[in-house]
Amino acid sequence: MERERGIGTKCLHLESEEGSFDHYGAISYPIYQTATYAHPGVGQSTGYDYSRLQNPTREQLEKVVASLEKGIDALAMSSGMAAITLLMELFRPGDHIIVDADLYGGSIRLFRNISEKNGVTFTSIDCYKDDVAACIRENTRAIYIETPTNPMMHVTDIAALAEIARERDLLLIVDNTFLSHYFQNPLELGADIVVHSGTKYLGGHNDTLAGFLVTNREDISEKFRFLIKTTGAGLAPFDSWLILRGIKTLGIRMERAQGNAFLIANWLKEQEAVTQVLYPGLSEHPGYEIMKRQARGFGGMLTFQVRDQEFALSILGKVRMIRYAESLGGVETLITYPYTQTHADVPEEIRVKNGITRQTLRLSVGIEDGADLLAELSDVFAQS
Ligand SMILES: *Cc1c(COP(=O)(O)O)cnc(C)c1O
Repeated sequence: MERERGIGTKCLHLESEEGSFDHYGAISYPIYQTATYAHPGVGQSTGYDYSRLQNPTREQLEKVVASLEKGIDALAMSSGMAAITLLMELFRPGDHIIVDADLYGGSIRLFRNISEKNGVTFTSIDCYKDDVAACIRENTRAIYIETPTNPMMHVTDIAALAEIARERDLLLIVDNTFLSHYFQNPLELGADIVVHSGTKYLGGHNDTLAGFLVTNREDISEKFRFLIKTTGAGLAPFDSWLILRGIKTLGIRMERAQGNAFLIANWLKEQEAVTQVLYPGLSEHPGYEIMKRQARGFGGMLTFQVRDQEFALSILGKVRMIRYAESLGGVETLITYPYTQTHADVPEEIRVKNGITRQTLRLSVGIEDGADLLAELSDVFAQS
């Protein structure tokens, strides 16, 4: 039997093996910057008719992501939110979905303002600890989670939830943006659909927006293909190429970001001004054991609480190399203030319930030299 390659190797070499191209021995997949395709004859097609339906560069990226995420199909879309918006087209007025309370703010905004208007209802609970089965209704169709969550880093047992979903014939949808397929494969744990903001770790350079839907079910893949053709938010050829390039270095970036995250988490724990460090790689984190079971790593995201708002704002105002910006998963370390940035549109009572306060800061740890990150944080803390 042929031995299976490691995921780091697969991120690099799938590109040439999954695709069908062999143009001049090019190592990098070509960018097919075309909107349409000539037909060889009447009733004939090269397999490509129009780029809203499919484009070779996008298709190449989709094959790579489907394979790495252990699905049978992946759709590359123009952003993570475009992907989640298309996903919501699986549902009809009257359908009910159980969602985790601590989701990416944009997902909450979409569900509350657009999906609800379209007649879909939601029950928002803490899936890592609440009784999910008790919230299932006659019209419940799906469970939608992130793990670890954004920004509170709650960890949900995917396999346990998948069992509940399977018993009641619900779709289990997992947004895998925080760990990426390098560290976690929800489909293998029983999920039906995986969502990614490819803008984050997959692209990895804070320069391209992208989103993915991945599934291991034929029936869902067929629906998705109809929807992307019909609604048209497929990823552009050049952006597809940028994400393909990003994935080549996913492994070393994730490992390095994780190493730096451990350094910073342990340093933060020692700071008097820090009241709590939320990083699932710390053995005292409540989700640590589940993470060890269901993931291959802990990622580069961490959240911490400081003693008061003044201190939080002072840190945000004083960072230099670390940039005060939204987004995550890129090579540069970013610090975010969820209260007024990513989760500003989330109603106050939900933010409070989730623990997102004026003292909450989130770090997307990049791949700088760890010592430089610690030096900057030391300076900033000393001045605050
Ligand atoms: C950023 C993000 C999204 C949305 O993706 P965009 O590419 O910004 O549209 C969805 N889920 C999570 C967890 C995210 O971090």
